[in-house]
Amino acid sequence: MEERGEGCLTKLPFCDFCIRSGVLCNKCVEKIRRGENTQLDLEISRYLLSANIPAEVRKITFYRSIEGKNILTLIVEKGDALIFQTKGRKLVRKLSERFGRRIMIIERGVKDKELLEKLFSPMKILTLNTIWLPDGSKQTRVILARAAKYKLDEEDVKIWK
Ligand SMILES: [Zn+2]
Repeated sequence: MEERGEGCLTKLPFCDFCIRSGVLCNKCVEKIRRGENTQLDLEISRYLLSANIPAEVRKITFYRSIEGKNILTLIVEKGDALIFQTKGRKLVRKLSERFGRRIMIIERGVKDKELLEKLFSPMKILTLNTIWLPDGSKQTRVILARAAKYKLDEEDVKIWK
């Protein structure tokens, strides 16, 4: 995690140079290879680095994203979600426009069930079933109190530990 000056976010998962140039150093390549971060995280980092971020939101830490069909979840540092909910609302709106999905801000360390509850809020989760598919991938079925059923891919429920 790199420290940076005025106008930029404090912490992003890639080096400034790699984010700006799009040419990744070995360290950043490794992060993507290990699945710790994705190409989309790089795009989000680039956006956050170039966007006109209000001063109050500059101090957040962005760890990674989880790409769902309709929702893009950003994993941030503990305490940062509140910053987004208050001072960072415009940024959330801009992210949503740029990446074409609803943006969900989740703090690092949130448990699966908690995360899903936030994803589907205000609906209440009744049952969570995990199904293993023949190809070895995992699918989680969420039964909500309003009887709406959603199917999530593994990516939707995988969270940063
Ligand atoms: Zn790098």
